[in-house]
Amino acid sequence: MDAVIKSYLPWFAALISAAVMVAARLVANGVVAARREDILVDGSTTGAVPRWISATYLAGSVGIFISFVWSFSISWWAPVVAVLLYLVTALVPSRIVAVTRELGGGPYKKCTRCAAVRPIDYFALDKSAADGHSALCVACADPATWARVQQLKADFTKR
Ligand SMILES: [Zn+2]
Repeated sequence: MDAVIKSYLPWFAALISAAVMVAARLVANGVVAARREDILVDGSTTGAVPRWISATYLAGSVGIFISFVWSFSISWWAPVVAVLLYLVTALVPSRIVAVTRELGGGPYKKCTRCAAVRPIDYFALDKSAADGHSALCVACADPATWARVQQLKADFTKR
């Protein structure tokens, strides 16, 4: 192998590790976006992302850490490159974090008529239901009131 490439190998390893992390995060984001409503209804992100994607992401972060330590063989300041690459991967937002934040506003329920996933407060109290809430969301159970509320909201934001 070319001597120059060989001496900068830790940087190449860091670059590849960072690319693996970004790729894994993008794939995970796609999965979470597709499953967002199911995750909200389940109330948990556990198992939302296939294990191999999480494993790939973890492998990338381990790789970047190894590259960081290994970079000291280039020079004392060379590990800075691995740190910078790691920071670049953090620029790709994690959808799992966003959905976890949304879960804080839960629990959520899926309406049996319109299939919308809404916070449980959008379902009227119903003692006969297993979870104590109506199967229909307010929009379906009381369309007239729902329309009125949406109108008031629209008027308020216009002002
Ligand atoms: Zn509904």
